[in-house]
Amino acid sequence: MRATMAMQRWQSSTQLYPSASPCPLLLPRTAHALSPRSPIALKTQTRSISSAQKQSLAAVGAAATPEPSSLSLSSPSAEDTRSPYDRFRSRRKALSVTDLVSNIWCEQQFEYTLLRGFKRKTPQMRRGTQVHKALEEQVQTAVPVDVSSKREDAWGLKMFNMYQGLASLKHNGLTRELPVFGFLGNTFVQGIVDEVSFVPPHTRAEERRRTAATAATAAAAERVAGEEDPEIVLGEEDTTDAFGVPPMGERIAYLSDTKTRVSRSLPSSSQVRATAIQLMLYHRLLSHMHLGTVDLGKALDLFKLDGGVEFSDSFIAQMAGLDSGISLETLLEHNSIWGMWELVRRQAEESMDGIGAETGVSYRSQADGSMIGFMPLKHDDKALDAHLVEVMKWWNGERSTVGVDIEDAWKCGSCEFQDTCEWRLSKLQLDLQGRSAKKRKFPARKRSVVV
Ligand code: SF4
Repeated sequence: MRATMAMQRWQSSTQLYPSASPCPLLLPRTAHALSPRSPIALKTQTRSISSAQKQSLAAVGAAATPEPSSLSLSSPSAEDTRSPYDRFRSRRKALSVTDLVSNIWCEQQFEYTLLRGFKRKTPQMRRGTQVHKALEEQVQTAVPVDVSSKREDAWGLKMFNMYQGLASLKHNGLTRELPVFGFLGNTFVQGIVDEVSFVPPHTRAEERRRTAATAATAAAAERVAGEEDPEIVLGEEDTTDAFGVPPMGERIAYLSDTKTRVSRSLPSSSQVRATAIQLMLYHRLLSHMHLGTVDLGKALDLFKLDGGVEFSDSFIAQMAGLDSGISLETLLEHNSIWGMWELVRRQAEESMDGIGAETGVSYRSQADGSMIGFMPLKHDDKALDAHLVEVMKWWNGERSTVGVDIEDAWKCGSCEFQDTCEWRLSKLQLDLQGRSAKKRKFPARKRSVVV
């Protein structure tokens, strides 16, 4: 017989994660900031290389064209006729939001990363992770949870984290690392939204810029000269409930993202495109959740899960042992995936009245987490649909992999695959052939000699 835990007033948020994997469960803490620019206009990427632009591509690493035998990575289409989805994601039965935007920088590079199975982590990337971690820890605590007893437990955990995130939004006006999932077409897609707030992102960014400048100045004064990993500086606005929660009927949720950078300059529009699409994907998935149009039955069929079976006792015991704001009584009444989904659905309805089209990305320094700037963005259903059509054609094997356009050849200069990239080498070869054909057509004029 189980004891019943008294209902607790909502105070803080915890994110839980399976103890055997790096995905946490989140419990919220208390609620809790760049000069605006013009919104980014999105356009469909062009794939062709104009002859007038080939020289700059040839200039990139042309000094060291490798022998074909040194190629260590080859196109899957050359050796494996399966689609990228069948080859790399069929076991997971799902794509992540990252999977749907990683081709924007360079599809060829993304394919090589998939072939290799991992992306080499640089010290800068590790530092970026620390900044995100610090931001997360301002609003919630990560707690490891064992979900190895039953497959359904892992879904219970996912939904518990959704519930916690939405509850944090409802009570504190802010949530970070909010899990979202749903079907886009027939493909199951999941992701984690960096930040959702009731304050439009540019307003938050302005406040962050103001308070972060003060924090950064204070931290710089204390910093030891030459220190390699200075303390991460987050603005005061990130830790206090500066804006409050609007009254019911006026709670429009806004999505935003945080990126870290080595340099203190804002990226170019082309570099922002992936983040813009990423936010649109989160926007659509969260909208489906809010409108109640996520087909959970279809997801359960896909993953062969029993939505009505009870979670394991150990999972329920772990949930009940947390100061999460959900009583044991409520947990036992919703002791299944369908039950937990009912809680999530209700929380989604109660926590927001709509989702705003305005989004944006804050840029922080990889060195110390201080604010660099803010880029306002906007949700655009047409741009998202156009991107989804193109990227799904690739995942479904309906078109081949493409590398960067000539105008983006500068990306190859910092690419770890540049020496063996088949796309780049084929473009270099085409360029060389073009030059020799031109020479044959217009041979150098012989100078006449007067004797
Ligand atoms: S070398 Fe250039 S085209 Fe090839 S993978 Fe890298 S960025 Fe893409």
